[in-house]
Amino acid sequence: MAEPIRPERSGQLFERALRSIPGGVNSPVRAFRSVGGTPRFIAKGSGAYLWDVDGRRYLDFVGSWGPLILGHARPEILAALERVMADGTSFGAPTEAEVVLAETILAAFPGMDQVRLVNSGTEATMSAIRLARAHTGRSLLVKFAGCYHGHSDSLLVKAGSGAATLGVPDSLGVTAAVSGQTLILPFNDGEALAEAFAARGGEIAAVIVEPFPGNMGLVLPHPGYLEELRRLTAASGAALIFDEVITGFRVAYGGVQTLYGIEPDLTCLGKIIGGGLPVGAYGGKRELMALLAPEGPVYQAGTLSGNPLAVAAGLTTLRLLQELQPYPELAQRTAAFAAELRALFERAGIPATVNQAESLFTVFFNPGPVVDYESASRSDRERYARFFHAMLERGFYFSPGQFETCFLSTAHGSADLEQALSAVRDALPELGG
Ligand code: PLP
Repeated sequence: MAEPIRPERSGQLFERALRSIPGGVNSPVRAFRSVGGTPRFIAKGSGAYLWDVDGRRYLDFVGSWGPLILGHARPEILAALERVMADGTSFGAPTEAEVVLAETILAAFPGMDQVRLVNSGTEATMSAIRLARAHTGRSLLVKFAGCYHGHSDSLLVKAGSGAATLGVPDSLGVTAAVSGQTLILPFNDGEALAEAFAARGGEIAAVIVEPFPGNMGLVLPHPGYLEELRRLTAASGAALIFDEVITGFRVAYGGVQTLYGIEPDLTCLGKIIGGGLPVGAYGGKRELMALLAPEGPVYQAGTLSGNPLAVAAGLTTLRLLQELQPYPELAQRTAAFAAELRALFERAGIPATVNQAESLFTVFFNPGPVVDYESASRSDRERYARFFHAMLERGFYFSPGQFETCFLSTAHGSADLEQALSAVRDALPELGG
């Protein structure tokens, strides 16, 4: 099965791309920099599989980084796109379908009174923060080390030294004035949280959190941690923003807030609600949302917001998820897969931690537990790169980076996962003991 691969056409396209596109890609992780090698250029996807331009097939554990919970090229979504497309692709004026999508989202999130559609997760989080600052009249934003919320300036901030620190820019071009308004805390550290609120609670406009962080690899909140966040933000008058761009409609028909019964003030969504087309959304309590233009003084707009094609793909996805209720089976299948992976690594004497929740999982080459950015950072990235390439060669496309999450879809059958496990077994000698 594991014939050597010569990604010839991918290699040629990558060389060509490097001339016209910075780094050859339109989003950095696609360039395989953290695992090395040549990124595969993709020709098509169907169900749980991807095909590259060299005709190689891969079982896809990335799923376009989360949107494709129903797999690639789901026929009902394609049919909806064709139907809608025939009537035009964009109007820059309101449509009935976007009202239905808004209503559908609201019905799944009990704490949300209104929702605004945008084009990406980045826009959703950036706008939610603007709204929280307007509502509270405060500036300071609290973010957790290792959480990613898109690439707007106040979120491209990393921790300085020490447990709770004012952020420093995580990218050239982000000014110290902006990063200085973001306080970075370690995730899952109740003491650091309590100290930050005791010292600066009155200045905090918002706390933004991925309730199941997926961008340092998958990390899960300690019992009571999210509840404590809710309690402290409510007590200090800060807005609690749940960034459910990954977890929305992924961990439940709703989000982590549905699983935990916690109502944040604002929720950011993306990925699944666009069914593979560009959509983001942010929603929350009416008193906050009423501040948005044209009703209120907080500006936010978008030429393609509520785009008919994107809305059709999103609505069809949500309708199918409601009909199929695939969550228990997806969770069970992913949990069983993660357990098998743990057992394989353990038998081979390879220190590994497999974090899993619902249809999300990450293999950390790290004895664990992995509970925050600091512990995630202790993972063996070189071993991850060997694992990634050993699996890629065998036709299995895992996340091209240690600090990412892998995704299962409803199209991943037990036979596919069995094959993945036997490929891992086969690859173990290449990972180093
Ligand atoms: N928030 C989270 C939790 C994400 O994982 C991402 C992207 O992966 C974003 C926000 C940004 O979304 P987008 O890439 O659509 O701008």
